[in-house]
Amino acid sequence: MATEITVIPGDGIGPEVTSATLQVLEAAGAELEYDRQLGGVSALEAVGSPLPDATLDSVRRTRIALKGPLTTPSGSGFRSVNVALRKEFDLYANVRPARTLFDGGRYEDIDLVLIRENTEGLYVGVEHFIGVGDDPRAAAESVMIVTRHGTERIVRYAFEFAKAHGRKKVTVAHKANILKYTQGLILEVAREVAADYPDIEFEDRIIDATAMWMVLDPYRFDVLVMENMFGDILSDLMAGLVGGLGFAPAANIGLEAAMFEAVHGSAPDIAGQGVANPTSLLLSACMLLDHVDQRETGDRIRAAIRSVLQGGVVATRDMGGTDGTAAYTEAVIRALG
Ligand code: NAD
Repeated sequence: MATEITVIPGDGIGPEVTSATLQVLEAAGAELEYDRQLGGVSALEAVGSPLPDATLDSVRRTRIALKGPLTTPSGSGFRSVNVALRKEFDLYANVRPARTLFDGGRYEDIDLVLIRENTEGLYVGVEHFIGVGDDPRAAAESVMIVTRHGTERIVRYAFEFAKAHGRKKVTVAHKANILKYTQGLILEVAREVAADYPDIEFEDRIIDATAMWMVLDPYRFDVLVMENMFGDILSDLMAGLVGGLGFAPAANIGLEAAMFEAVHGSAPDIAGQGVANPTSLLLSACMLLDHVDQRETGDRIRAAIRSVLQGGVVATRDMGGTDGTAAYTEAVIRALG
């Protein structure tokens, strides 16, 4: 029986890469049914809310979503719908793999997974201006929330992930030298959890040095785990190691729901031009297929993507080529055989 999922095409290049992804899923024979819902600026324009009740109700029912990128205005305007969805469904583990798929990346044979805490840290959005004299915006303050519970479950998730996927090492990246309470708690809890996994190597590294080593010698890492904002930033850097944001999938996993999306945003600079690379959302859809026990279909799509990229059959603009989203999608469908 087909599994029903919520599909949120989103903003900017979202509808283009979502349409490409659904075409490939259909060609691969994925046993999925789609409940299409709105989110982001497109939802605000259509129904007056960036996160309509109908979208929330759909995810509450299906418990699985495939989501395109959603535009979040910088500075002022509505708060991030992505963050709201992660909080609403307690999608605490953001799994972001970075794997080399073709030769155009800066490194060969990269195979890393970043596990980002998705519900705490600075992204809880507790912030305000502080007025001084007649300037109501003389200063601003954001609160970083770290809980023992939230840290324990994300570090344990990282170790369980490493165990389940035969990986050898978990690195916790932190800033406990400066932020002794919040980041200090992360380091303390990570060391406690690591003691339960004697067969998996554990190391801790300061986040800035981690970023430097990630560029100099990414092969020293395997699975990485860190708080929300550090993970947000470092995972984009890791996407750069394997060819850019066009190749970076993600899963947001909670106990009762899961949402699959590309790492990239709505790319307003290329939206509507038919040139977006749909690989990130396609690979996110493969993670969704793994999640709903259709791993074989996911593996076939992954193999088709690899053969298209490695064979140089087509190359999208971000790969230095001239092919558009449609030509790339057709090539992947052909490669499915
Ligand atoms: P972005 O990821 O949208 O784009 C960064 C650069 O990468 C751009 O040059 C873009 O053209 C390129 N790029 C991204 N995806 C690509 C693809 N699939 N194919 C080819 N090139 C691609 O980041 P941004 O410009 O900083 O953010 C734009 C908007 O997206 C903002 O409103 C931001 O809040 C939002 N955003 C949403 C999500 C999400 O929904 N999960 C994630 C990140 C950013």
